[in-house]
Amino acid sequence: MSDKTETAPHPPFPQFLEDFRKKLQHLFYIRADIDQLSTKRGLPPFMLREILSESPLATYIPSQHGGRGGHIHEGIALTAAASYESLPLSLGFGINWALFLQPVAKYADDQIKPGIFNGFIKDRKMGGLMITEPDFGSDALHMQSSYSDFADHYHIQGTKHWAGLTGWADYWLLTARKKRTTASFCAISTFLSAMSTLQIRTSLSKSFMKILVSTCFPMDATGLT
Ligand SMILES: Cc1cc2nc3c(=O)[nH]c(=O)nc-3n(C[C@H](O)[C@H](O)[C@H](O)COP(=O)(O)OP(=O)(O)OC[C@H]3O[C@@H](n4cnc5c(N)ncnc54)[C@H](O)[C@@H]3O)c2cc1C
Repeated sequence: MSDKTETAPHPPFPQFLEDFRKKLQHLFYIRADIDQLSTKRGLPPFMLREILSESPLATYIPSQHGGRGGHIHEGIALTAAASYESLPLSLGFGINWALFLQPVAKYADDQIKPGIFNGFIKDRKMGGLMITEPDFGSDALHMQSSYSDFADHYHIQGTKHWAGLTGWADYWLLTARKKRTTASFCAISTFLSAMSTLQIRTSLSKSFMKILVSTCFPMDATGLT
């Protein structure tokens, strides 16, 4: 697999940002009614599709993987433009950026990155993070989700809540500790999982997700496609 993502060259960032602002205004004021939208949770799927068709999330992706380079000042300018029209949209950008793409760019195995970044740029995919558990919010180090080690993958089981982009994310970073066989402390590990392999049961009333089984790979492994 090539370690680079081939894409058309990006227009200069100021031009992209200007066009993106106009696109948002068109979507929020002409294609939809912003007063109606702001009374409802989330965004209609057609709007998210149109927004992602402009490849805004490429702003947060390293240039060697087909993105705009992940420059902080550009990321902040993009997030500010989004928040001017929609705080939920801006929160979604922030989650993709800081809770998924940045950790993947920094810590994931180099062989796993092209597939994921390519998915974001070409297939408009998104990613989120599941750390928090209902009984261990601020006290995240006491989390109880655990993983079992199989020959070429891992299984995670546990309960998570507050995971932003639930229902939208295609990839997840998940944290868990090795299933305890003794009372000894086990360090927390971070795993990557594709939504397609995640079996979850959600409780909307209690806003948590019980992860029945998730087939995962550690950040430094190469199994995820
Ligand atoms: C909008 C939003 C998006 C989020 N997105 C994600 C996400 O994508 N993925 C994810 O994993 N998590 C996410 N979270 C969860 C977030 O990280 C947790 O809300 C946070 O860790 C706090 O946990 P808690 O809400 O259970 O509060 P608690 O831990 O129950 O804390 C409640 C209150 O008690 C205080 N408190 C707690 N412990 C102490 C202490 N020892 N001393 C003094 N005061 C204390 C806290 O400061 C707080 O005021 C999100 C939360 C929000 C609000």
